[in-house]
Amino acid sequence: MAANAPKKRVAIFGSTGSIGTQALDVIRANSDTLEVEILTAQTNDELLIKQAFEFKPNAVVIGDESKYDGVKAALSSTDIKVFAGEAALEEVADFDTYDVMIAAIVGFAGLKPTLKGVSKGKIIALANKETLVVAGDIVMKLAIENRSPIIPVDSEHSAIFQCLVGEARNPIERIILTASGGPFLGKKPNFLVNVKRDHALQHPNWSMGAKITIDSATLMNKGLEMIEAKWLFNLAPHQIEVVIHAQSIIHSMVQFEDGSIKAQMGLPDMKLPIQYALGFPQRIKNDFPRLNFKKYPSLTFEEPDIKTFRNLWLATEALKKGGNVPCVLNAANEIAVWAFLRNRIGFLDITAVVEKTMEAVAFIENPSLEEYFESDGEARNFAASLMKL
Ligand code: NAD
Ligand code: MG
Repeated sequence: MAANAPKKRVAIFGSTGSIGTQALDVIRANSDTLEVEILTAQTNDELLIKQAFEFKPNAVVIGDESKYDGVKAALSSTDIKVFAGEAALEEVADFDTYDVMIAAIVGFAGLKPTLKGVSKGKIIALANKETLVVAGDIVMKLAIENRSPIIPVDSEHSAIFQCLVGEARNPIERIILTASGGPFLGKKPNFLVNVKRDHALQHPNWSMGAKITIDSATLMNKGLEMIEAKWLFNLAPHQIEVVIHAQSIIHSMVQFEDGSIKAQMGLPDMKLPIQYALGFPQRIKNDFPRLNFKKYPSLTFEEPDIKTFRNLWLATEALKKGGNVPCVLNAANEIAVWAFLRNRIGFLDITAVVEKTMEAVAFIENPSLEEYFESDGEARNFAASLMKL
């Protein structure tokens, strides 16, 4: 950023999560160009209060309303505004006083505040992929109408975005999304049937929130990312390929119409795509560890095993069918992962719940926002009843 340029004012939705805390690390290291305007958290009041004292935002939101009094009392010596509850997320997203929204809430809950930020024409640093999976058509249309740049934070999509810089006149032939394969790469159903929560939470390359870690183990994460890529880069399903690349060094690739392929590489560290989104169009200098190719003498690539990891197949079906199907897939998956994390269902049951829910909820070709909300609710209820929750 040019000397004396005003600081970018950042609103972090989901500041206590894996992405949120890493975004704050980036802001802490770049306090000459970035400052915090809004922080939001669902339940972790202690961390939210600590963050508020350090970063001195204008406003904080605690989702869990029973914690409002505690947060308000803790911050009473400051002039930080304190809000609580779901509606407050949209209220603060409507503020004029921030420039960039980091959308780092997990799941469907991120949709409404992100839509508000988009309708205000804010720069959106988008981590919350579920927002695009559920209602990508509506989000992208609103973004164009309001000139709201959506800059991906998801590492694969950040990689593609970076490969596309300078290529505005060159159509994409296809993209190649890389997948680590997760902790159960190469395993078969007879192994997966016995997998427990704690094992599934051990990701080989990335440290992330619980929901996305399970999605990475089931490969649903890559399926959600295919749908996310469709909307971000305006692609047809046949232009999106997934390849297993266990080392997570190539973060994804773009192939152009001359057959040339660009890849973006680096050590797996989410702070990189986060700071790229915050600095764009400039890169921010840092002292993160550098990739040493000699430590990675072989980078490997293989076909995903969609027979075993059927979630990837289901998500590909949802991508092709479109309409409300990705929304239904997402809702069923959210609730099934929730149940798996509480040891209420087995690992392979996640896929069964998603598949049965996709079969049960009626197809809507061009849903309105209201219909997306209805499909989400219907899918959640159906999935919950399947699992007797
Ligand atoms: P996380 O579980 O660590 O954090 C989620 C954040 O959202 C927390 O601050 C929590 O308070 C808030 N939150 C949770 N439920 C909420 C609700 N109902 N209403 C409002 N706020 C709520 O999750 P994460 O790993 O940081 O992931 C956040 C998003 O970023 C997800 O959509 C995920 O897919 C995406 N993402 C994460 C990573 C990663 O490395 N963690 C990488 C790529 C994409
Ligand atoms: Mg990703």
